[in-house]
Amino acid sequence: MATVYAIANQKGGVGKTTTALNISACIAEAGYRTLLVDVDPQANATVGLGIARTQSPGLYEVLTGEATAEEALTDCSVAGLQVIPAGAGLAGANVELPRIEGFEQRVRERLQPLRERFQYILLDCPPSLGPLTVGALVAADRVIVPVQTEYFALEGLAGLLDTLALIQRELNPRLTVAGMLLTMHDNRTRLGRDVEREVREHFPDLVFSTVIPRNVRVGEAPSYGLPVTHHDPHSAGAEAYFELAKEVAARG
Ligand code: ADP
Ligand code: MG
Repeated sequence: MATVYAIANQKGGVGKTTTALNISACIAEAGYRTLLVDVDPQANATVGLGIARTQSPGLYEVLTGEATAEEALTDCSVAGLQVIPAGAGLAGANVELPRIEGFEQRVRERLQPLRERFQYILLDCPPSLGPLTVGALVAADRVIVPVQTEYFALEGLAGLLDTLALIQRELNPRLTVAGMLLTMHDNRTRLGRDVEREVREHFPDLVFSTVIPRNVRVGEAPSYGLPVTHHDPHSAGAEAYFELAKEVAARG
């Protein structure tokens, strides 16, 4: 039975997609049956794993019922990792979904048949708290929150945790926070170190000890359609993601 992780933060550009595809790649490489679902209409995870943006059926067709989740399974540049790409019309899903009775449950219901088949399912969320993100959080057992170590890092985090608590109370009692992940960290700057300290002080026990450094290889990997763990496995970024995958697995 799969454990389902949502990678979520309503802020854009904090490293959600990068984290989702690199953890997925590490776990798949370790031999676990792993699925990455691209829940973001921008389809960055889809493209970052070497799949065409227009690949269908994808999540959109799965949500509308035009395809089953099984039919949408797609191979990618990482051996052993399967993907449900975003699908051609996913942008419209944020408008269409709320019109469906019980739409909050739709992602969970549609992915349910795959839970036997995979050990890990990761959901790469869009940068909003809209219906697609809510759907992903209802489908998830755990949520990983990437936090960029920048000046406004803490802003929005308290609100996000409130939203997660609300979803847990009203819609998904299984949901727990796996952890916050500090990303794009620059340990050489005082700002980077200050933000790390501040986030750890505010949320003791909640922050992964692994920190993802800002690293050129991480940024360029998607242009090759590869996770950094395959693009340059010995880079600082790749090593950090290998560490993180171990930490995520160890936290259970
Ligand atoms: P999100 O999914 O939260 O919007 P992304 O994962 O797409 O964020 O990251 C935003 C941008 O920053 C992307 O261009 C990505 O390649 C780059 N990036 C992410 N993590 C790193 C890192 N550790 N070092 C350098 N660039 C990074
Ligand atoms: Mg993204």
